[in-house]
Amino acid sequence: MSMSKQRWLELMRDIDPPSLTQDEIDEGWHYCDEMDGLLANSNDPNGDCFCSLRKGVEQPIPASVHETVAIIGAVSIAAIVFVLVVWIMIERALK
Ligand SMILES: [Zn+2]
Repeated sequence: MSMSKQRWLELMRDIDPPSLTQDEIDEGWHYCDEMDGLLANSNDPNGDCFCSLRKGVEQPIPASVHETVAIIGAVSIAAIVFVLVVWIMIERALK
């Protein structure tokens, strides 16, 4: 059973909210400290909650991290090559 909008609103109401069921907890629902107590699902790939990362549950590194590392690597190599080319050109010009 997944979370309906109706159920979510019920759980988020200020006065006398019902408790999360075991099923809902098992699905990853919790009142998230990182999101100001908002009811969130740590198993939702589109969600903003990363509690499960801190709890030590193994999660794959997002593709964007790999991309960032690759871009930084490529830029560094390009910078080194550029410096070498300029240095060789200066050397030749001075001869
Ligand atoms: Zn959370």
